[in-house]
Amino acid sequence: LLEIIGVDKSFGSNRILKNCSINVQAKETVVIIGPSGSGKSTLLRCVNQLDPADGGNIFFEGRDVTNDPRTAPLLRREIGMVFQNFELFSHLTAAENIMLAPMKVLGMSRHDAHDIATALLQKVRIPERADHFPDELSGGQQQRVAIARALAMRPKVMLYDEPTSALDPEMIREVLDVMAELSAEGMTSLVVTHEMGFARQAADRIVFMEAGEIIENASSTDFFGGVVHERARRFLDQIL
Ligand code: ATP
Ligand code: MG
Repeated sequence: LLEIIGVDKSFGSNRILKNCSINVQAKETVVIIGPSGSGKSTLLRCVNQLDPADGGNIFFEGRDVTNDPRTAPLLRREIGMVFQNFELFSHLTAAENIMLAPMKVLGMSRHDAHDIATALLQKVRIPERADHFPDELSGGQQQRVAIARALAMRPKVMLYDEPTSALDPEMIREVLDVMAELSAEGMTSLVVTHEMGFARQAADRIVFMEAGEIIENASSTDFFGGVVHERARRFLDQIL
């Protein structure tokens, strides 16, 4: 579904991504781990064209979408993105945050968009928060609204960039549970996270990045079975 092939990216003279390749098949969940600064966010940003890649190719549903501005609207619609800091619209309620893109981008009626928002708030387990503004919600609730907002466009892939790293420990689980449920239902997902419990539960494959390179790309079975690259093991020893 999503093929990242030999992607390179530099900021000035800094090579941030070096020949990175990841193939995410439909219904798969791939988890990316790696030290701070290794290029994980940059890689996700290249996938949905928030940042242009300097080299390599990105295929979405078999179509080359590399730095093709004509495909940007398609990618925005069909690839959902969830960030570390939620990035909800603070002047809109939870329901309105979710309704915005379906109305603006898909031209959906307010009534239909509201139905979708209601269903999605149910799905992320906060139906009672529909009319609350972001600053009236806990971090975990805000992040679940952000997930619901991404889902409202019926994306074919979800990208998550450290979705729980800004959360208090007691709220991490409720967000990961929603993500794991989506993965189990077959939502194709590419997830940057250091939550190895989630990776063990939900990931089909684990990718380890270091200094802009993909050092390891292993099936979850191999990875948790101990077939781990020395550098990945050292990293895991630090975070666990
Ligand atoms: P973290 O775990 O801290 O989120 P990361 O693996 O997501 O790290 P990136 O955010 O992708 O890492 O950054 C990789 C490198 O690229 C870093 O050295 C960062 O300073 C650099 N970088 C990222 N964005 C830019 C930018 N817009 N301009 C210049 N350098 C950048
Ligand atoms: Mg990052």
